Amino acid sequence: MENYYCGIDIGGTSAKMCLYSAGRDEFVSEWDVPTCKGSDEMIIIDRIIKSLYDTCESEGIQYESISGIGIGIPGPVTDDGVVLKCANLGWDIVELKKIMCEKTVLRNIEVANDANVAALGEQWRGSARDYNSIVMVTLGTGVGGGIIINGKIHTGHKGAAGEIGHITVEPDEEKACGCGCHGCLEQYASATGVVRIAKKEFPEKYSSEEISAKDIFDGAKAGDDSAVTIVRMFSKYLGTALANVAAVMSPEAFVIGGGVANAGVIITEGVKEYYREYSMFALKDTPIELALLGNRAGMYGSVKMVLEP
Ligand SMILES: [Zn+2]
Repeated sequence: MENYYCGIDIGGTSAKMCLYSAGRDEFVSEWDVPTCKGSDEMIIIDRIIKSLYDTCESEGIQYESISGIGIGIPGPVTDDGVVLKCANLGWDIVELKKIMCEKTVLRNIEVANDANVAALGEQWRGSARDYNSIVMVTLGTGVGGGIIINGKIHTGHKGAAGEIGHITVEPDEEKACGCGCHGCLEQYASATGVVRIAKKEFPEKYSSEEISAKDIFDGAKAGDDSAVTIVRMFSKYLGTALANVAAVMSPEAFVIGGGVANAGVIITEGVKEYYREYSMFALKDTPIELALLGNRAGMYGSVKMVLEP
């Protein structure tokens, strides 16, 4: 019987799901299931499982040939698959792995933080596929991160390893970060962070305007002076943070992904410059790559978590 693996990338509005055939080394089906903030977790879990049964039926795949289910979810997750909190879904503590094992009668189920899972996806099949140990930083509405050591996610004791977005880069910052601290990287290097720098540094130019991080990066590419200054500030914050991460992890490579990274090489060029300036000599030539898999990285990573050799 052919072996299939199910990957699930749960987000605040939908869960991206896929079925992967190990024999053919390909995704045989990909689909979305709506999730929504505030719904009871059992309703969403049941909806996800039902959609898996339905897809197996429509694809002519026996449910018994599913060998594992990997799940990524936005929030800290312990090694035992307990979601400690998921703000995007309004979940508190949910024993997701245990519930999924009971409901699906499968044993090979793993749950991890979505940024960690995306990092694993990039290490398996994305821009870091030539490396075993990497650190990925995801620049979106917030800043996430994931650490992969020898092909495995490093979760940390509290499930919060790789939370690069909450490295302190500006201790005197007055505004609070979403985490409650002040001066976190996320406050400067996320999509909202870049806009915040713009409005703070150039109030006369940007305060009344509806601008996005993309507008700033486009402006810098076109040579606009204030946009160039903002991108340099962004690059300095992120480059310095990665130099600090390198001093602890010494990864083979860094990967930068997320919506902000769609700006392209302008991101890696600026970050590399400051990274080299602030990292110690042994770490200066660590490659810094752009992610390749986009929003499919989570599906790749979730499958890889449960794939049996
Ligand atoms: Zn924070």
